[in-house]
Amino acid sequence: MAFDFDLYVIGAGSGGVRAARFAAGFGARVAVAESRYLGGTCVNVGCVPKKLLVYGAHFSEDFEQAAGFGWTPGHPGFDWHTLIQNKNREIERLNGIYRNLLVNSGVTLHEGHARIVDPHTVEINGKRHTAERLLIATGGWPFVPDIPGKELAITSNEAFFLKQLPRRVLVVGGGYIAVEFASIFNGLGADTTLAYRRDLFLRGFDQSVREHLRDELQKKGMTLRFNTDIARIDKLPDGTLAATLLDGSVLETDCVFYATGRRAMLDNLGLENTAVKLNEQGYIAVDELFQTAEPSILALGDVIGRVPLTPVALAEGMAIARRLFRPEEYRPVDYDLIPTAVFSLPNIGTVGLSTEEALKRGHRVKRFESRFRPMKLTLTDAQERTLMKLVVDADTDRVLGCHMVGPEAGEIIQGLAVALKAGATKRIFDETIGIHPTAAEEFVTMRTPVAD
Ligand code: FAD
Ligand code: NDP
Repeated sequence: MAFDFDLYVIGAGSGGVRAARFAAGFGARVAVAESRYLGGTCVNVGCVPKKLLVYGAHFSEDFEQAAGFGWTPGHPGFDWHTLIQNKNREIERLNGIYRNLLVNSGVTLHEGHARIVDPHTVEINGKRHTAERLLIATGGWPFVPDIPGKELAITSNEAFFLKQLPRRVLVVGGGYIAVEFASIFNGLGADTTLAYRRDLFLRGFDQSVREHLRDELQKKGMTLRFNTDIARIDKLPDGTLAATLLDGSVLETDCVFYATGRRAMLDNLGLENTAVKLNEQGYIAVDELFQTAEPSILALGDVIGRVPLTPVALAEGMAIARRLFRPEEYRPVDYDLIPTAVFSLPNIGTVGLSTEEALKRGHRVKRFESRFRPMKLTLTDAQERTLMKLVVDADTDRVLGCHMVGPEAGEIIQGLAVALKAGATKRIFDETIGIHPTAAEEFVTMRTPVAD
């Protein structure tokens, strides 16, 4: 049967665009459908605008610290409207770049909601298009638990477009988005509380990292409420929101921000017209080649729920394009040692195993830790401290994990991820000459393990 396209990609986010562009570059006839915004979550309501807001939030500290270096900063004022307007302008620019990238690489762009009508056919804007293969790259969507008053809460989707900066914010959740947005609101001057259901946020991260960030956020004036959850939200006559916690206490605020995870975006996608199956967590089930249970349909990125990060979606898109249309260049995606950063203030950067995970996997572990006041703060009143940590296998000397809480942690850990991928031992770290004076040199000068 002759198809209109070789590959029809649903979703022009990080993974979909990467797969579409490369497949077209390899000579395939490719179309991509996008219902909302070119570039997907990362560009529009994720990584990019989030990081711009984090930069914005850090200025409050910069102004304070400048005085220690002799500057007279005056009384800096902050205008939320300007920040959001400038952010929107930058995102529009990026949307245009994504459009050009797609069109210039020969991809046919269909703007509208795509629905699968059979394993080789997609319907969009009332028209049907056939393809030998369909690629589902529809991403994720915020999940808010079903509590009374949930419609009064916002999620990250809305936070990027708030008309004004709330005076008081209650952030619910203890993952990446919760700590990043709590840092943004706190840094911009909102009275910020973070509520998380267990005893310490960022479950899965190294315990020292979690405790260090907890202490630093508290120093910056954020209120942290652990072992609690929201039972209901009500709106008072004056517009104030009243969040009732599980213990019956009531917290009054102007904004309740839910960051309690994300679900697969499958709304009105037409999966019932296919043999595609979901896994237990509700994501599209795929094998190691991103193949669903329907032979003509593949899926990647957040919708498969493996590692919901942009660089991972990009790697998956690239692997799919190569396997289908340039098989001689195919390499499977390597999910081992994926570095990641949490853009809280201060940042977290991490790659490899936490101490707890290393012990669980049976390693005998040596830990090296360094805690210090960043040099930039020594002329200021700021009490922020940096944490750097190495987790080392005591038998093989292999460095299993590198962790940092401090300025530019993501920038520093990216390089160390290369070392860990190359199998670096602690001895290689020790033999590496530092760059002085930097914070990063601490990673090659830690000599004495922490006593158990
Ligand atoms: P997406 O980028 O979500 O793209 C899916 C696209 O499909 C969307 O554009 C959507 O509109 C479209 N779509 C959905 N259904 C249809 C349909 N039926 N028809 C047509 N189009 C459809 N990751 C990082 O690595 N670093 C970060 O700093 C980071 N920060 C983040 C901050 C926030 C607030 C959030 C929410 C996420 C963040 N992420 C970050 C995660 C990152 O954004 C995602 O992992 C990444 O965007 C996933 O890419 P994707 O291609 O799977 O899906
Ligand atoms: P996460 O999965 O990171 O965290 C979800 C949080 O919500 C957890 O603390 C979880 O608690 C809590 N939670 C889940 N369900 C409930 C519930 N019913 N009631 C109360 N609390 C609940 O999700 P995020 O939404 O923060 O982010 C989604 C993903 O996006 C991240 O995992 C990450 O991969 C990606 N991302 C990456 C960023 C980066 O690279 N810097 C930034 C932002 C997002 P518990 O621990 O108990 O499960």
